[in-house]
Amino acid sequence: MLYIDMPELPEVETIKSQIEEITPFTILSEEYSSVVSSILKDKNKHFEVTGHTVSKMGRKGKLLYFELDDDMYILSHLGMSGSWRISKTKVIEKHTHVQFEVKGKKGNKFFIAYVDPRRFGNMYFVYEEEAKKHFNELGVDIGSPEFTTDYIYDVLKKHSSKVLKPFLLDQKYFAGCGNYIASEICARAGIRPTRKCGKVTRSEADKIREATESVLKGSIENNGMTFSGGYSDTRGEKGEGVQNLVVFYQDVCGLCRTTKVKKITLAQRGTYYCPTCQK
Ligand SMILES: [Zn+2]
Repeated sequence: MLYIDMPELPEVETIKSQIEEITPFTILSEEYSSVVSSILKDKNKHFEVTGHTVSKMGRKGKLLYFELDDDMYILSHLGMSGSWRISKTKVIEKHTHVQFEVKGKKGNKFFIAYVDPRRFGNMYFVYEEEAKKHFNELGVDIGSPEFTTDYIYDVLKKHSSKVLKPFLLDQKYFAGCGNYIASEICARAGIRPTRKCGKVTRSEADKIREATESVLKGSIENNGMTFSGGYSDTRGEKGEGVQNLVVFYQDVCGLCRTTKVKKITLAQRGTYYCPTCQK
């Protein structure tokens, strides 16, 4: 199976919203797979979450988090193939590494489980102070109101010699942006992915902001993006965001509907663009 559809902001946001619908809930028991240590790296040190209540869900960039009482947090990076499931019955899916039996607000019991076939995801059970360190490592979330034209223009100017598309993947500046989003942003903003950041004008920075908004909206409204079956939401369902793509994994550009999309490799990542629409 190909994992080109690794979770980016819209996929993590989808999972966050779905778990959020059932908050608050209290963890009744916790269970781990025998290989969980490759995901939950500090398993021997981590605290038990049984008996604690998850009051809120959050997301910064691609980092999903659970807020518990007593300043506890569960941080979850989904890596390449991680997802969470919500189920009325115990999750018996292969590659289930963490499973909580929980009690919801109406006293109903269900299961919340972390599933990750390739185990590139990681998880941390930490107190608030440590959680904040993780949040601070991430830059402005590309879906937040702080992602303004001024911000984009300033960051690009400060890194003028960098190449635009690979730079958009830097989580210190563009938290939540991943490979398909970066290609799509460049396409909708009309800028070649190979452009030097310093050559992006202010009005193009504004187009990047608009393009980001439209890419995220199209994807989130369709519960994220599934290309080859790698990503699924908490119900195990695929996202339908693929229909909104204009260049990523497309043959013909979805904007001009005439030019054949070009595929190149930039910083080891597959990159797609339209030679007509992007300058
Ligand atoms: Zn085009």
